[in-house]
Amino acid sequence: MDRLRIEYVRFVTVVVAIFLTQAVAVRVQAAKVVLSFDDAPLPDGWSLAGNERTERLIEALKVKGASPVVFYATPRDGTGQNLERLRRYGEAGHFIANHTNDHPDLGSVEAEEFIESIANADALLASLPKYKKWFRYPYLNEGGGAEEKALLVKAYLKESGYRSGYVTVETFDWYIDRRISDEAAKGNAIDEAAWIRFYVSMIVESIELYDNFAVSLLGRSPVHVVLLHENDLNALSLPELIDGLREAGHTLVSPETAFSDPIADAKWDQHRFSQRRLLAIAAERDHAGKLDSRWLDTDYIDQRLQAAGLLCQGEYFFCAWSPWLCEQFC
Ligand SMILES: [Zn+2]
Repeated sequence: MDRLRIEYVRFVTVVVAIFLTQAVAVRVQAAKVVLSFDDAPLPDGWSLAGNERTERLIEALKVKGASPVVFYATPRDGTGQNLERLRRYGEAGHFIANHTNDHPDLGSVEAEEFIESIANADALLASLPKYKKWFRYPYLNEGGGAEEKALLVKAYLKESGYRSGYVTVETFDWYIDRRISDEAAKGNAIDEAAWIRFYVSMIVESIELYDNFAVSLLGRSPVHVVLLHENDLNALSLPELIDGLREAGHTLVSPETAFSDPIADAKWDQHRFSQRRLLAIAAERDHAGKLDSRWLDTDYIDQRLQAAGLLCQGEYFFCAWSPWLCEQFC
């Protein structure tokens, strides 16, 4: 009788496990994905010189046969190699778009200064191949509650023929890049392959979370635009990132494809929160569903990094439950 009970429990366990696997498999849906890289060109990083980074990004996209991506540029007066590096991206078939000249935060500067920075970037970028009048606000900050300032900038962008360079998937790739940089600065060993595995799974999971939210909001999966930065982390992990996205069933598509999705309708460009496009639509529709944004929480990311043994090389047992304490010792 006992034996029968054990077999029964085992049978039920297997059935439940299969059901859960299927449920998870169904939940992850294939999406069309655009990669966008902000703040190009960034200076030398913790691992690569700026020029080297540009070549690695171009090479990875070429070797993987990926669709064109878009670089939201801050040319910073075109000093140094800045314009040359942006030209290289354009010549390789990738789009260049406007992210202001010097990355001001509309939360802390007046509309005039902000507009001047947009115009300065435009003057520098206009002659580059594949330049498009797509605009992404630094920090995705559209002026917040300062209604008049926000409206002045929106009016300028509309008159000047810009489209909103919105995102549907925000990521904290910059935070992971900073964490590796910190580890490198402390002289700690960097297990690059392990960091890359961690990072790729974070991005794949972020897309899944945003896509679930999009489906609850729109009843379908839109063309996703993923916000990344032109940093060392992305240059080093891009081949694995592209593989990881494809293994998850996603297809990389050109930024132009995103602009043909109904959520890119220009009416949303005038919305107060046009840049975080899904949140703008959700606010407008009083959507009750919530976005699971755990990967936009630096404490959560630290906990996961500690658990993966990436910070402080997993040296201290307390790192797994107290990132703060760990930080004091590492
Ligand atoms: Zn930026």
